[in-house]
Amino acid sequence: MRLFRRNLQSGHGSAAGSDPKRCPVCGSTSFRGDRLTCTQCTHGDRHRAVFAFYELIRPNLTNRRALIFSGENWLQDDWFASCERSFYGIENHLDVQSVDRPDESYDWVVCNHVLEHVENDVAAIGEMRRILSGDGVAQITVPSPARKLKTLDWGYPNEEKHGHYRSYGGDMLRKLGSPVMAVVVADGLTTHRDVLFLVARSERPLYGLADRLRNKLICLMF
Ligand SMILES: [Zn+2]
Repeated sequence: MRLFRRNLQSGHGSAAGSDPKRCPVCGSTSFRGDRLTCTQCTHGDRHRAVFAFYELIRPNLTNRRALIFSGENWLQDDWFASCERSFYGIENHLDVQSVDRPDESYDWVVCNHVLEHVENDVAAIGEMRRILSGDGVAQITVPSPARKLKTLDWGYPNEEKHGHYRSYGGDMLRKLGSPVMAVVVADGLTTHRDVLFLVARSERPLYGLADRLRNKLICLMF
C-alpha cells in the first residue's frame, strides 16, 4: 500500500520570499479545483483538516494499538504502537457492524466517511466501543454533520447520494452516545471547516486530548 510522507524541502515558504500553498500531507505545491485537491497525493480539504488534528495529537498516539477502516493513507502506521487496516471489499476487510476481533483489542479506531455507507450505524458505533480498551478512542467523521438538525435516513443505499444510507445531522451526537467529544477542525489551505467526533468508553482519554488541543482547536464534550 502506498503511504505519503511529507517532503519538507525548505521549511516554511520558499527562499524567494513567496509563500506557495504546500500540501501538509506530501509537500506538493500543485492543486486542482476549488477545494484544492492535491495533484500528487489526491487529498483534499477534508483530509487536510483531519490531518491537522492528527499533527497536534501525535504524541498521544505512540502507545496505541490502532485499527483504521477504509483508505486513509495519509495516516502513517508508525504513528502508532501497532496499526491494522481494513479495506472494504479487498484485503483484511472487517465489517464495522460486526467486527471480528475480541473486546478491547485496540486503543485507537479510525472511521472516516464509513458510517454513512453501513446499514446499521448504531451497531457499528457499539462495535467500536466494544473493541476499544478502557482508555481507547474512536475517531469518526461523516459528510457535513453540522448543516442540519436531523439525520435524513433513506433506509437503503441511495445511489443518487453516493450510495449513502443517510445524510447526518446534529442529532448524530445522540447516536454516538456518551462520552463523545466534538472537535472543530480546519484546513489551512482553504476556508474548509469540519467536525470530527471522538467516541470513548470513559471521559479520561478525552480529557487528555482536550488538554493537548487547548487553545488550538475548539472541543466540546457531551
Ligand atoms: Zn499532497
